[in-house]
Amino acid sequence: MKVQSTTTQQDNHFLISDYDYKSTNIEKNGDKYIAKPQITNFKFKTDTRIPKLGVMLVGWGGNNGTTLTGGILANKFNVTWNSRRGTHQPNFYGSLTQSSVIKIGTCNTEEVFVPFKDVLPMVNPCDIVFGGWDINSMNLADAMNRAQVVEYDLQQKLRPYLEKLVPLPSIYYPDFIAANQGDRADNVIPGNNKLEHLNIIRKNIADFKQQNNLDKVILLWTANTERFCVEDPNIHGTAEKLLKSIESSHPEISASTIFACAACLEGCSFINGSPQNTIVPGVIELAEKAGVFVAGDDFKTGQTKFKTCLVEYLVGAGIKPKAIISYNHLGNNDGKNLSQESCFKSKERSKKTCVDDILESNKVLYPTEEELNIDHTIVIKYCPETGDSKKAMDEYIAEIFLGGRQTFAVYNVCEDSLLAAPLIMDLLLLCELFERIQFSKDSSEFQRFDTVLSWLSYLMKAPKSESGITTINALSRQRAMLENLVKVCAGLTVDDNLRLEVRYG
Ligand code: NAD
Repeated sequence: MKVQSTTTQQDNHFLISDYDYKSTNIEKNGDKYIAKPQITNFKFKTDTRIPKLGVMLVGWGGNNGTTLTGGILANKFNVTWNSRRGTHQPNFYGSLTQSSVIKIGTCNTEEVFVPFKDVLPMVNPCDIVFGGWDINSMNLADAMNRAQVVEYDLQQKLRPYLEKLVPLPSIYYPDFIAANQGDRADNVIPGNNKLEHLNIIRKNIADFKQQNNLDKVILLWTANTERFCVEDPNIHGTAEKLLKSIESSHPEISASTIFACAACLEGCSFINGSPQNTIVPGVIELAEKAGVFVAGDDFKTGQTKFKTCLVEYLVGAGIKPKAIISYNHLGNNDGKNLSQESCFKSKERSKKTCVDDILESNKVLYPTEEELNIDHTIVIKYCPETGDSKKAMDEYIAEIFLGGRQTFAVYNVCEDSLLAAPLIMDLLLLCELFERIQFSKDSSEFQRFDTVLSWLSYLMKAPKSESGITTINALSRQRAMLENLVKVCAGLTVDDNLRLEVRYG
């Protein structure tokens, strides 16, 4: 795709697009609103050179880690496999960047769509070099077998590629994850000195980058859900305090925070795929100083994606959700870990906050704080027999016209990691892309996006935002935000769906 426009130019390795952003400033005058439309000029500069990308996963030997690595290798080497349903080809279904499309315009009256990945130059997932850590020493072929996610024939075909991959020893703070994980921990960096741990992880990153001749590395936590650390400004509040707390091996420094710090100190962006409060203020300051991004928290895969879509639809239709009751049962290691109350609490928090902004936006349905307090219940049960095939059962009760009730009962079954793996890939590819984009407002100096990469909120259950920016959870708004950003950077027109060119030529 090539954009021909006076507002877009290619300058050496940079694609520069000029964008007049239209917004509306609202002033409140008593109980009246005065709306003042305004236009702000932005320029977006995208480095079109595609780097050699390395990714280090924390929890590489887990269900997500093995499914992601194996799935990408299956695509890279076009590995086919048989099941009782026939012969299967690898694909990237479930990946926003690889398998979804963006409307770029109209040809006569026909709408034209291209793959998301083709709008701006992006890393090909098959070119990513993977590495990582796990507290369990199993090679990735055996770990994939243990995960029980991927069809047996595909496991066998991937074995020659995966058995050579063995996770690096990791840091293990038993107090932060469930006690039932103890028997897995046979690949652990010894000792209790957290500064030494930080330095070993930093060295691992530097060695991985150098040995594989990489341009950049991104770290992603897909290890067990930890309990929340007891956040304290004196421990976690600034980069300096955080590093001091690591030096004194403070008990409220989690393993995930050590990895986040190591990433920042090695100039790598860090993504938190679990719900716990890894990205404390000190980590954000470290990332800011290093000029890298942090993003979190918790992958938004099946149940929550659906929830933020259904509730957006109901509230958008003027229907009032009054109760959401979510049951999950699952039998994988994630479920086993979540069976401990402290880890479940982290998950409950991220699952519960995901509709708040959608309800708060509609003061017709929810005129008071009290009414916003709907019944939103989260239950998670560990049931080994279900394996990775997670069952999510949700009941939505909404109030309709004249006091009537509308109830939806939703039953969702699938291998959790087959949803998570393509989503993790998107997080990595988009994070890498955003490292190559700069913007300038009203002809100011070009600068990078904010350190907390809330552009990725479509992929996160409890999206972390830069301070002062409200979080958006509504799924279609999150997707539109990502799609429009990519289009604007490429010099394409943002779609407002009026379709005037089709209706009136
Ligand atoms: P998993 O239990 O199969 O894998 C986690 C891996 O992390 C294990 O191999 C474990 O040995 C390892 N580990 C634990 N502590 C570690 C440490 N300190 N350092 C290195 N490795 C460590 O879990 P999973 O199904 O792969 O999920 C991973 C995480 O992603 C969980 O926190 C889960 O809640 C989160 N998540 C998953 C999904 C999904 O759809 N699969 C969605 C949202 C969030």
